[in-house]
Amino acid sequence: MQKNLRMSLSKRDSKTIWHPLTQHKTAKLPLAISKAKAALLYDENGKEYIDAIASWYTAMYGHCNDYILESAFKQMQTLDQVVFTGFTHEPAVKLAEELLSILPKNQAKVMFNDNGSTSVEIGIKMALQFHHNNNDKRDTLLAFENGFHGDTFGAMSVSGLSVYNGPFDDHFLKVVRIPTPDGTNNAEVLKQLNALIETHNIAGFVYEPLVQGAAGMKMYDAQGLNEILKICKTNKIITVADEVMTGLGKTGTYFASLNIKELPDVICLSKALTAGLVPMGITTCSQDIYDAFLDDNVGKGLFHAHTYSANPIACATALAGLELLQTQEIKEQQAYIIKAHGEFLNKISAHPKVLNPRQSGVILAFEMDVEMERYGNLRNKLFQFFMDKGVYLRPLGNTIYILPPFVITEAQLKAVYSAILEALESFS
Ligand SMILES: *Cc1c(COP(=O)(O)O)cnc(C)c1O
Repeated sequence: MQKNLRMSLSKRDSKTIWHPLTQHKTAKLPLAISKAKAALLYDENGKEYIDAIASWYTAMYGHCNDYILESAFKQMQTLDQVVFTGFTHEPAVKLAEELLSILPKNQAKVMFNDNGSTSVEIGIKMALQFHHNNNDKRDTLLAFENGFHGDTFGAMSVSGLSVYNGPFDDHFLKVVRIPTPDGTNNAEVLKQLNALIETHNIAGFVYEPLVQGAAGMKMYDAQGLNEILKICKTNKIITVADEVMTGLGKTGTYFASLNIKELPDVICLSKALTAGLVPMGITTCSQDIYDAFLDDNVGKGLFHAHTYSANPIACATALAGLELLQTQEIKEQQAYIIKAHGEFLNKISAHPKVLNPRQSGVILAFEMDVEMERYGNLRNKLFQFFMDKGVYLRPLGNTIYILPPFVITEAQLKAVYSAILEALESFS
């Protein structure tokens, strides 16, 4: 392959790279980002962008955070990588201890992997094999209609946003679905759930607690979810909370599940857990789940591994992130963002183009009520509008949402709000 170094990075990229989630026939060339610091991204021409979604909710403590970098570098010089079957190491043990100290109190065991989809995949396997080990024949999973749980087959199966999954429809696990409870339809949702339990052998329920990220930061009723979880418990349906997006401080508590009385059996984590530096995923479970895999028969164990499970550098990085999450400084930043979001929502909620203004912790979202047809691809136009203003937001259809790094400054957050106000005036 001949390299032409005078070509822009974007051009060179287009000659060799197949990007995720991209239709290359119609997509614009990708923007080359050359560096990042705190809440800012810089492109190859030096233009800066406020990363108002923390690079898919990973870089919550800021990009290239000195403490995170130091922790990773220190670990790198001591132990870089080792097989995690038959071996253990301090960063993994410390991370597990630290995580369990803030997770819902029924969580007892930590299994490592390296991304959000596989953390869900393991959750699904725990639910299915739990019943298999107990000689209870259960072949179906339960999920919400608009959930998103990742792009591996198990995770795709439970995801309800099927727009992109069509080609694989015939190859999915057996899944039945219920709508999310919104406070007005709760009785109907529970009725559907009970009917499904009558007619199917449901092994597990996989759900995003309180906020469905990819569905457009759709927020739903905590009380309704609590009722669903209660019915699942009564029927021995293993509850798997996908906190890949909501986990680690997004909803105002360390985990969204802490806002719900009924605790999940299994919790899936990734994204912010990585502290924005090294891929990392974790699936935790209660003692009951773990115990169902203990047997003299080896085959009853959970035979799932990834080569990089519990990579020491990823563990040290995640641990540094957990330490920061619990500092006064980050707590004050969270409180500031939550208050500022509330004030901004108050300000825009009466705007004729703002629909469903909503907030959960540091997540703010609303729909823009404009004629989609008039704008052709509104989403792409909004995206470009914000980028031109130096703000990286990633609208989902006509849903605009902010999920900023905890370390965003007051001036930066105000710049994000201003860009949104300008968008409300410019698209009508
Ligand atoms: C991002 C996400 C996933 C998938 O995580 P990956 O690391 O991209 O595989 C799963 N569940 C939820 C709720 C997510 O937001």
